[in-house]
Amino acid sequence: MITIVYTLQEINDWQTRKPILKDILALNPVFWMNPNLKKMNETASLPFMREHIEEAELRWQRFAPYFKNEFPETADTNGVIESPLIRISHMKSRCFPGMTGDFHLKCDNELPIAGSIKARGGVYEVLQYAEQLALDAGMLHEDDYYDVFSSEQFKTFFSQYSIGVGSTGNLGLSIGIISAKLGFNVSVYMSTDAKQWKKDLLRAKGAEVLELEGDFSKAISAGREKTMADPNGYFVDDEDSKHLFLGYSVAALRLEKQLQQENISVNADHPLFVYLPCGVGGSPGGITFGLKQVFGDDVHCFFAEPTHSPSVLIGLATGEMDHVSVQDFGIDNRTEADGLAVGRPSRFATAISDQLVSGIYTMEDDELYRLLAILADSEKIYLEPSAAAGLIGPERIFPYIREHNIDPGNAIHIAWATGGSLVPEKDMQKFYNKGKSLI
Ligand SMILES: *Cc1c(COP(=O)(O)O)cnc(C)c1O
Repeated sequence: MITIVYTLQEINDWQTRKPILKDILALNPVFWMNPNLKKMNETASLPFMREHIEEAELRWQRFAPYFKNEFPETADTNGVIESPLIRISHMKSRCFPGMTGDFHLKCDNELPIAGSIKARGGVYEVLQYAEQLALDAGMLHEDDYYDVFSSEQFKTFFSQYSIGVGSTGNLGLSIGIISAKLGFNVSVYMSTDAKQWKKDLLRAKGAEVLELEGDFSKAISAGREKTMADPNGYFVDDEDSKHLFLGYSVAALRLEKQLQQENISVNADHPLFVYLPCGVGGSPGGITFGLKQVFGDDVHCFFAEPTHSPSVLIGLATGEMDHVSVQDFGIDNRTEADGLAVGRPSRFATAISDQLVSGIYTMEDDELYRLLAILADSEKIYLEPSAAAGLIGPERIFPYIREHNIDPGNAIHIAWATGGSLVPEKDMQKFYNKGKSLI
């Protein structure tokens, strides 16, 4: 890993070359339009195509009988892990009274197993690893009925293997819960400031939780080293994972169906705007990639980052990608939005988002709390602070609409709510009270 910490002179030079950095480094909320955005027929080669997403969807389907068995909360959907798409018209009239298009919430806060968007990427990566091990050992064929993963024989087999992950919280929850359920030895490396309830829940589910001083990037490095020292160890690397990415991308195929069911068409006259809370860039990158495969140039995806953790924004705006962290520029990576508190962007995802993301906006923590409280009051939906970042999207993207001459009259806006349902009630009450005091 290349580590750069810029001198004051170098930072000044950067600000001259990329003026938006002045506001970013002053921690002012910004809206950045991606100058490298490509039309879909002009993109340089991407590592995946739609058929890869479809293969990933088939893997999810093979595992559906297993989920139905092991996670009763997936029984209603026959073992499919998916979240509702709902209209939030009260929120819309409260926040954007003049807005003509539709405003929806994609409720990944309700996703089973992990209560966050990590139930897509994190769970998927462990499934593909478990499946590969079982296939290689000759214990499984792809056309088997996958409830065999519930058997003692499989659990004993997986107990020879260990899985490690470094996490600010939610990724650890998803990897820890599914890995322990399958029978793996799983270790979650967390920074000491990670939320206590997440550590408690993980331990209750049978995962080992190791707490490390310093921030997330250090937790990742330590976890990577210790896991790789075990010949039967597998490390889920949030900073560079194509499996996480593919797991997330499947959301696009599901959303396509949900929009069809609602008779909502997406085309040049009915553009789709999607607002995705962004940490390392894996979940918003994977979903953007998927949506671009499905809806092409008619979908416009935006990432939302905290002013104190604009890792993907700095990586893309400087062109330095994962070679730079926010700390290199003197930004502290301190935010209440623990799902977004990431200083360095994902290598794998960011190289792809470079061509596909329409723009990125940043926002202050207080704004997250305000949105969280307004959503609770207007729609009775409770999110964690990170997950509220998409809700302000429609207000932030006007410069983009103007620049691209888009008529937003018939637009469909989707804020991606990325987490919240596992947050203990008293923590949620604190989030809400804080938001109320700020309105
Ligand atoms: C992880 C997470 C995100 C962002 O996903 P990245 O892959 O880190 O960009 C957003 N919201 C919540 C609640 C998360 O847990």
